[in-house]
Amino acid sequence: MSRRAPVAPPPQPLPGQVFDSHTHLDMLSEPPLEVLRSARAAGISQVVTVGCDLESSRWSAACAAEHRDVYAAVAIHPNETAGLNSRKEEVLAEIAGLAALPQVRAVGETGLDYYRDSSPPKVQQEWFIAHIEIARAAGKALMIHDRDAHDDVLELLRTCDLQESIIFHCFSGGAELAKKCAEAGYLMSFAGNVTFPSAGSLREAAAIAPAELILVETDAPFLTPAPNRGKENAPAQVAHTLRAIAEVKKMDVAELAAIVMATGERVFGPWR
Ligand SMILES: [Zn+2]
Ligand SMILES: [Zn+2]
Repeated sequence: MSRRAPVAPPPQPLPGQVFDSHTHLDMLSEPPLEVLRSARAAGISQVVTVGCDLESSRWSAACAAEHRDVYAAVAIHPNETAGLNSRKEEVLAEIAGLAALPQVRAVGETGLDYYRDSSPPKVQQEWFIAHIEIARAAGKALMIHDRDAHDDVLELLRTCDLQESIIFHCFSGGAELAKKCAEAGYLMSFAGNVTFPSAGSLREAAAIAPAELILVETDAPFLTPAPNRGKENAPAQVAHTLRAIAEVKKMDVAELAAIVMATGERVFGPWR
């Protein structure tokens, strides 16, 4: 989407509090303080800001150190792996160092992207495995970017047998993947696309997913939920996504929000 798109208008405040499990504060046109203030006004009490390369991972860790309501995730995005492959050891050592910081609560976004295919699958898999080991060593959650790669992601997770929490960010499967994730205890983080008219299979997945395994995210500035498609996304907009999921699950919005908050503490550690 265009960076010059107008920022989406604030949603109706939630009847409770929830957090945005995956956002990119460094890519938004408004500064973090402004973004966090709008988020709080809508009932979004915390955000997890996510790195995709070294620079954004460093930025995320620094941002979380500065703001009490921000937590960081650090990693090299699968699409960035080929370009860094010649410096792999040094880059991963820095990610491991950042992952050990107290305000960094997850290793991500890492995983496999066979849709954009800007890195060969084998290279992506090697980096994904390395990130799984970083999450294990740091005792932090693993935040997965899975695009058109469900089977390989599940297979690598099975072989690596990570005991830490595993989150499918921007969950992109249907009922079948939701069932597999539920059986394995993997978290499913739904983004704004669950509100799109064409996203029937995502809504089926949300209906099937146990409430205790559901997270909500914006992936801002991308994937702005209805009714604000075409405008720039921001953490406040996760209110629309939570309401859409509550409707699909025939649950009270405040009740679902409370469950998501409790899940957040279980997955990312106690809020500050
Ligand atoms: Zn992603
Ligand atoms: Zn993202």
